[in-house]
Amino acid sequence: MIFHNFAVMKKVYLDNASTTAIRAEVIQEMTKVMAQDYGNPSSTHSFGRNAKSVLELSRKSIARQLNVPAQEIIFTSCGTEANNWILRSAVVDLKVKRIITSKIEHHAVLYTVQALQREFDVQVDYVAVKANGEIDITDLVELLSQGNKTLVSLMHVNNETGNVLDLKRIGVICEENSALFHSDTVQSVGKTELDLQAFPIDFLVASAHKFHGPKGVGFAFIRKNSGLQPLFYGGEQEKGLRPGTEAVHQIAGMAKALELSYANLETERTHISELKKYLISQLEIEFPEFSINGSPDGFYNMLNVLLPFSEDKTAMILFHLDMKGIAVSRGSACQSGSIKASHVLAEMLSDADLKKPSLRISFSHHNSKEDVDLLVDALKGI
Ligand code: PLP
Repeated sequence: MIFHNFAVMKKVYLDNASTTAIRAEVIQEMTKVMAQDYGNPSSTHSFGRNAKSVLELSRKSIARQLNVPAQEIIFTSCGTEANNWILRSAVVDLKVKRIITSKIEHHAVLYTVQALQREFDVQVDYVAVKANGEIDITDLVELLSQGNKTLVSLMHVNNETGNVLDLKRIGVICEENSALFHSDTVQSVGKTELDLQAFPIDFLVASAHKFHGPKGVGFAFIRKNSGLQPLFYGGEQEKGLRPGTEAVHQIAGMAKALELSYANLETERTHISELKKYLISQLEIEFPEFSINGSPDGFYNMLNVLLPFSEDKTAMILFHLDMKGIAVSRGSACQSGSIKASHVLAEMLSDADLKKPSLRISFSHHNSKEDVDLLVDALKGI
């Protein structure tokens, strides 16, 4: 007789910078909206008005969290769309002649900027990145002292290293130099307080699935009278800035998720910060030669580590962890079977270190010390 061992393996999700689990209350809210509030928010009958009211209450709720007027929040399908829209319209409509960005931005910004450079011959300057992955602010000031009408696009929290940019400082520098300021805040909205009246900033973007909301919905904050024009054309939704029938259930889910993220921020941040500290302490014991990719003061939910393993372990490490039910991500993406080095780590590490295995471990409030123990044990088995 054959006996199968069907003991259920505990799955460990430590890839929350990629995406997060939707909160139960968010699913409940979305289900309610799908079942009951199915009208088209542009329709004038009661069904439409009902959906419109869900939409506008969601907008108000999101705006309240960021301390901005509701009309400055425009819903989009995701963070990528919002980044594309803002950057493209800045060049096409606001007549920005130069973009200052960095080589460690998410591809949603980096590839958009490169496309704009090819299409419109816009000047692109990359601000220097320090060895620890921080933006060199002195270099930014130097770049801003020269040149044409400029937009600065620098992300708040880097999605690979967790390095944090001082938004207030950059905002003030941009204002002093009459430059527009856009920040990809996809990794920080819902995870840290953002008071948009406290510093000058023109545009930022968010994505619901990064803060325990649904995928396929995001928003842009667009400062009033910015002059931004739509990316594509159609109906009058979102004041004509983003045509297309709004995904009311997604938007209601996003608003609920943001509300809960901020309501629970203190407790969840404390819990997650403890886990990160615990992980570092365990790595120090088990792999004393490991090093942190990025600043040691990186964002509380993320740690990118270079492990003291040989190069030949690089390709199999994620596979090995996956076999054990552990999800993390590597500082590099696997494309068509070949390993492409991370464009972010490439700006920070030597060629030799770039070939060694780096892992990005990112937490949520669902994680526990046991998850960290399981990860460290699995790494010991490599
Ligand atoms: N910007 C950053 C920093 C991200 O981490 C991501 C998600 O991976 C995006 C943009 C893209 O967001 P979305 O998945 O909503 O298009």
